[in-house]
Amino acid sequence: MSPIPPGGAIGIFGGGQLGRMTALAAARLGYRCHIFCPEAESPAVEVSAAATIADYADRAALDAFGASIDVATFEFENVPHDAVARVAASVPVRPGWEALRTSQDRAVEKRFLNRIGLETSSWVEVRSAEDLKRAPCPGILKTARLGYDGKGQFRLDRDFDAGAVWSAFGAERGIVEAFVDFSTEVSAIAARGKDGSIAVFDVGRNIHRDGILRRTTVPAPVPASLAAEAQALTARAAEALDLVGLLAVEFFVTRDGRLLANEIAPRPHNSGHWTQDACGTDQFEQFVRAVAGLPLADPARHSDAEMVNLLGDDVHAWPELLAEPGANLHLYGKRDVRPGRKMGHVTRLSPKTR
Ligand code: AMP
Repeated sequence: MSPIPPGGAIGIFGGGQLGRMTALAAARLGYRCHIFCPEAESPAVEVSAAATIADYADRAALDAFGASIDVATFEFENVPHDAVARVAASVPVRPGWEALRTSQDRAVEKRFLNRIGLETSSWVEVRSAEDLKRAPCPGILKTARLGYDGKGQFRLDRDFDAGAVWSAFGAERGIVEAFVDFSTEVSAIAARGKDGSIAVFDVGRNIHRDGILRRTTVPAPVPASLAAEAQALTARAAEALDLVGLLAVEFFVTRDGRLLANEIAPRPHNSGHWTQDACGTDQFEQFVRAVAGLPLADPARHSDAEMVNLLGDDVHAWPELLAEPGANLHLYGKRDVRPGRKMGHVTRLSPKTR
């Protein structure tokens, strides 16, 4: 199929800030975005040409959505299969179901990563308190599905009470990963076009607090060979999924200098927001280009960058951030300020060191 020319309509499942910034990038290239999400007050809806506010199970709404767009994508990976299949009957969905399916379930994801040769921390799938007793310890119990930003996670320390942890956990299925005493965390984001071309952004170092990303610094303070390896592994995963779009891979760097893949996301990623200010083409435009079947752009970076998330009350610092020379402020238009909620981010640039 030939590229979707400017003027075409891109459907996006999900109405969060990733959808908002994708819609803004799409608008710059002359596309109209149509958001499909259940919540009326959504950051993406406010900046898009059209919106369908409906449940992901609403067949009539899905059919009308499919009939009004040229291609569909998503800004979060937990879109139900039936919704994707319904829309895929009328327009291409990029990336496809395989990428979504793999990232929706931590056990499927880890199995995929290990199969294609990406090392992870040792892990087991668990379905009962009995399984927990055989799990790596110290470890982290995570829900197999619908976990994000550290939600649904339990630390398992020596002598933990398997019965008590399992009842507090509440989910049917999970995984336990061995706790990694990492030296740092890094991530890479690859774009893959319809023609199979790949462009990978530089690797950033990520600092999390309470499971939520706080800060990304680029370049990551790791040896160039390790950063190149993270980029190559990310490209390998994108190819193995036959993905068209973006793939982010988060890694732990162990104290002896190995990369352990932690998580993948087949969409724009919070750890790639620095690209908006430090690259000629950012992750959102690259995503739109891939999804629309356009050629990818050069992912080169012109500056060093530090991106800091504005969580909850942090957003009230906007007057000072606006007054700060060189601070690039990005706000998501969310009205309710809640603790830990991602309200915006600020990126500061400095001259490129390497
Ligand atoms: P996740 O939801 O899997 O991305 O986890 C969120 C954050 O929790 C990670 O970025 C790490 O900072 C921490 N974390 C998750 N899994 C592990 C692990 N196996 N060992 C040590 N820290 C972890």
